Amino acid sequence: MGIQKLETSVIVIGAGPAGAGTSFFLSKFGIPHIVIEKALFPRDKVCGDACSGKAAVVIERANPEWLQEMLGDPGKFLPSNGLVFGAPNGRTMAIPINTDKRNGAPPNFIVPRLVFDNFLFEKMSSSFCTVLQEADVTNIIRNEGRVEVRMTRKGQDYLVNAPIVIGADGDKSIVKKHLLSGHAVSKTTSVGLRAYYKGVEDMHSDNFIELHFLPEIMPGYLWIFPLPGGMANVGVGSMSDSIRKKKVNLREQMLYAIKHNPSLAPRFANARLIGDIKGYGLPLFEGEKPVSGANFMLTGDAASLIDPFSGEGIGNAMYSGMIAAGAAKKALEKNNYSASYLKEVYDDFLYTCVGPELRRSAKIQQLCKYPWLFNLVVNKANKSATLRKTLTAAFSDTDLQEELSNPLFYLKMLFNR
Ligand SMILES: Cc1cc2nc3c(=O)[nH]c(=O)nc-3n(C[C@H](O)[C@H](O)[C@H](O)COP(=O)(O)OP(=O)(O)OC[C@H]3O[C@@H](n4cnc5c(N)ncnc54)[C@H](O)[C@@H]3O)c2cc1C
Repeated sequence: MGIQKLETSVIVIGAGPAGAGTSFFLSKFGIPHIVIEKALFPRDKVCGDACSGKAAVVIERANPEWLQEMLGDPGKFLPSNGLVFGAPNGRTMAIPINTDKRNGAPPNFIVPRLVFDNFLFEKMSSSFCTVLQEADVTNIIRNEGRVEVRMTRKGQDYLVNAPIVIGADGDKSIVKKHLLSGHAVSKTTSVGLRAYYKGVEDMHSDNFIELHFLPEIMPGYLWIFPLPGGMANVGVGSMSDSIRKKKVNLREQMLYAIKHNPSLAPRFANARLIGDIKGYGLPLFEGEKPVSGANFMLTGDAASLIDPFSGEGIGNAMYSGMIAAGAAKKALEKNNYSASYLKEVYDDFLYTCVGPELRRSAKIQQLCKYPWLFNLVVNKANKSATLRKTLTAAFSDTDLQEELSNPLFYLKMLFNR
């Protein structure tokens, strides 16, 4: 069998949330594209399974009927509009998200990635989109102002040619490795473990997600996210350098906390682990670094767009895909695939949209080094209705988020006993 040659307008590598987000809008703009994916869907992805309203916003923009389909199926897509914070001293505080302030924006929801990613995958189907699954990309090069992706699939070699390639291929992006100049294979900034449990008790009656800042896991946290059918996604995430420095075994730490932590152990007494505990890297946002160059753009985890405080990456993966599709449209119209033009239409616009929020979260993440601060906030909030209201509003009010990321906010709280 000789090499099969394919030509298209845009190549998208990866069919996770970033790749699907990109493909939805390329199809909407009538741009032919080929999505290359190494796995066979439905495929699992290690994740907490909690989707912010941002993911829902992108889905709604792509096709409002898809969002209605999701919201109409709470047996798969569990709506969740609040969170419970557990402080290192074991005290908890429930914070509903102020939905009144969201101007009818769709809710957050929790859905196993096996289900969610397959839902998105099926929606990619369009006359402008060709999907090649189980494809092994072996090389990506620039050639005469275009890109060539070499891949093998079911014993057949392919050479796919286009003026633009979009890297939606996650943490260990092959597009980033081959095309981003000056890119050294970076160490993943954070890692997480995920387990599924059945029968965890005392879950919040309105499906609030739970983040427990245990002293032994900080900087990082243990999460318990409710899922349909009495299941829960339970996991831990922590910073890689802290794990290395303290020689931590994250898996043992998580199982120990579940068994012995006084506020968690009783809730897991009758719970059953379903399947294996799996780990994966989280490329957290580390500042506004280049995410494009001549003929390419990076989206989602490939662009390190995970919120450094919450560990949330699905929303930004889909959002960056949507923006990359818009940038590809402009580049194709102008026949300009230069690094400077793609920076202008992609990086600059992307960081205008998501940069302020990610920078604020990076500041809040720094505060995780101080367990006493969490104890202080939760103790105070349990006593003060005003502070509880402030924290509730903070999830929908960006000015308040700015205030919460400022250490002075906590100093004032400390002296204002
Ligand atoms: C433990 C853990 C918990 C998390 N919890 C949450 C959470 O609760 N909420 C949240 O919003 N985010 C969470 N995240 C982050 C979230 O999982 C990611 O941000 C999100 O999956 C990014 O989507 P993506 O499309 O960029 O990448 P991915 O979802 O990783 O998709 C990339 C796709 O590219 C394919 N691919 C990779 N390499 C190639 C290649 N060479 N050729 C072809 N295809 C390729 C992969 O098979 C995959 O399908 C968590 C992450 C971890 C590790």
